[in-house]
Amino acid sequence: MFQNILLAFDGSESAHKAAHLAAGISRCSLSPVILRVVVAYDPLPAYLGEPNLQKAIDERMKEAETVMEQALKAIGETPAEIHTEILEGPAADAILRVAETRGSDLIVMGSRGLGQIGSLLLGSQSQKVVNHAPCPVLIAR
Ligand code: ATP
Ligand code: MG
Repeated sequence: MFQNILLAFDGSESAHKAAHLAAGISRCSLSPVILRVVVAYDPLPAYLGEPNLQKAIDERMKEAETVMEQALKAIGETPAEIHTEILEGPAADAILRVAETRGSDLIVMGSRGLGQIGSLLLGSQSQKVVNHAPCPVLIAR
């Protein structure tokens, strides 16, 4: 049913649950599936200037690559074609941009992420994606 799935992953417990769900859906599909994993890193202020700006970007990229490796591990074996995208955030904007430009037909993400405000039912990024997504959104809890 879903052939172009976007998984948003930040390394959190909820995101791991989302990865398992997305992988499960991809394994059940009778048609070929593209599973696109998106990891966003926080935008950097331009006032850092060179060479500090480039150094900071390299560090963020390295961290994001580690998070991406965790995502691939959580997905495990799947017949889906895996695509990976590491983008500058804010996360919800990056997720929505990818969903629109790549024509995703399902976004899978966690209810919460790495944020500290435990009382929220939905984190700010999942809330924004649910409000603006061009396709169905599956929230993992
Ligand atoms: P907040 O960020 O508002 O303090 P939070 O961190 O608990 O709250 P969100 O950031 O909305 O909650 O995270 C919810 C889900 O959004 C995560 O489980 C993940 O699927 C996705 N997400 C969050 N941050 C990123 C990111 N940097 N890259 C990719 N996906 C992300
Ligand atoms: Mg967050």
